[in-house]
Amino acid sequence: MAEILQGQCLCGAVKYRVAAAPKWSAHCHCSLCRRAHGAPFVTWVGVPLEAFKIVDGEPTLRWFASSAQAKRGFCSQCGTPLFFHGEKWADEMHIARATLDTPITLLPQAHVYYDTHVGWAQCDDHLPRYDEHGKAMP
Ligand SMILES: [Zn+2]
Ligand SMILES: [Zn+2]
Repeated sequence: MAEILQGQCLCGAVKYRVAAAPKWSAHCHCSLCRRAHGAPFVTWVGVPLEAFKIVDGEPTLRWFASSAQAKRGFCSQCGTPLFFHGEKWADEMHIARATLDTPITLLPQAHVYYDTHVGWAQCDDHLPRYDEHGKAMP
């Protein structure tokens, strides 16, 4: 049986389910994630789109086009940023990891867009760091 992950927004109006193991997890330091989440970086998990389902609150979930190629899903009732879907990863849904209720064992594997990271939050782990072009940083 496939792994089932569940999560929700702060007010609980929007609930989602994933019937698959996450494909990857990473910390994103891009300026769009920072603003959208009001945080120094955002930890995402990527899941197969076909395994992802909104189980509650579909009308409450709104999508904001944060660029021409991507949109971000949030709860219009409590404002929780939940999802990212972009053309570049059309067959995946990216989920803000902190909104998951189900603990997952897959640890974050990398820092991305690290060339644009803020100086006021330290990441002293030894994960690989990539710049905005996906190039490994020293
Ligand atoms: Zn909500
Ligand atoms: Zn980002």
